Amino acid sequence: MAKKTIEDLDLNGKKAVIRVDFNVPLQDGKVTDKTRILGALPTIKHVVAQGGIAILLSHLGRPKGQVNSKFSLAPVAQALAAELGQPVAFIPESRGAVAEKAVSELSPGSVALLENVRFHEGEESNDPILAQDFAKLGDVYINDAFGTAHRAHASTAGIAEFLKPAVAGFLIQKELEYLGEKTENAESPFVVILGGAKVSDKITVIDRLLEKADTILIGGAMAYTFALANGKTVGDSLSEPNFIDTAKAAMKKAEEKGVKFLLPVDNVTVDSLDFDNMSVGTIGASDPEGNIPEGWEGVDIGPKTAALYAEELAGAKTILMNGPMGIFEIEACSKGSFAIAEAVAKNRDAVSIIGGGDSVKAVNQAGFGGDVSFISTGGGASLEFLEGKALPGVEALDDK
Ligand code: AMP
Repeated sequence: MAKKTIEDLDLNGKKAVIRVDFNVPLQDGKVTDKTRILGALPTIKHVVAQGGIAILLSHLGRPKGQVNSKFSLAPVAQALAAELGQPVAFIPESRGAVAEKAVSELSPGSVALLENVRFHEGEESNDPILAQDFAKLGDVYINDAFGTAHRAHASTAGIAEFLKPAVAGFLIQKELEYLGEKTENAESPFVVILGGAKVSDKITVIDRLLEKADTILIGGAMAYTFALANGKTVGDSLSEPNFIDTAKAAMKKAEEKGVKFLLPVDNVTVDSLDFDNMSVGTIGASDPEGNIPEGWEGVDIGPKTAALYAEELAGAKTILMNGPMGIFEIEACSKGSFAIAEAVAKNRDAVSIIGGGDSVKAVNQAGFGGDVSFISTGGGASLEFLEGKALPGVEALDDK
């Protein structure tokens, strides 16, 4: 790791301003998914164990620079206290006299969560005045908000200019290790599964992974743009005819690099997206060319494809999954994504990485969340990092 980390700090008696990603789903004032809270625990516990004071900053939702009680972090403080097994002081402001006085009264080993940083207009515009105000809250800065690390905001990047040392927490370290080092120097065979809606969203990732992977398995609606590039018909499937040349170039590069590049050989298709009244068919078994007729839409990889992909995954030593194989949110279109999740989970010899966003939901929904090596907590941040882009929230930290 090229950046300083929490392990490079002496935290005893220090006030540590920790940017976490507590942008959690809430329902009736209760946190319904604690994944992000759990992700931040190692860093918070380490600060407490070292005799430091953990002062947590986070955003929640999109209050657009306005105070809005709907987006208050107060319920998150309670959920965090339950997970930590110690009280968490909730401070209803994140800057200025009230916040500074409240944090000055905290004793070593205590934890406080401040109110939503996005209640201030300057957060998303990375206002240096706001960044300086955040910096006044502590003696050291720790960024552990991987999910927001692709944004240069006052609490994720700006603050690191004014509050030194500025280091990475354990979660960011782990994300960079799995999404970075472990895919950079992947043990072979390195099998990548890419799905989701659009080729245009994923082309930079595809291009980069073509440099590293041994095999790339394509699913999701993205597959239909590749099918068009191969001269097949896709019926009413979601596709991007403007990206046919891009798809062709990717396949050509795969050939040149000797990367095995597999597309679905069969598809689950529906005659309408009115999911209460549709018929579900499997095309491919009946059409050996894999063409989808007019009036039908591909919504998932078919069973033959799932079996073929599972075979590739069984022999892998490194697996990276990004994007679902179909409209997994709908049960009738979820079998392909769930079968692939199972195949990933079954390969215990491989380092298996679920690269964020909807593939995480699919793997968790399929019940295999606990059986993979690493699940990224980022969506956009994971994708941008896999694309090879620098993350401003990491760049801003001190070099080792
Ligand atoms: P992405 O954010 O690009 O990873 O795309 C995820 C979304 O793609 C999910 O909401 C899926 O429902 C959707 N998706 C996957 N396959 C298809 C498909 N064949 N047709 C339409 N949407 C799809």
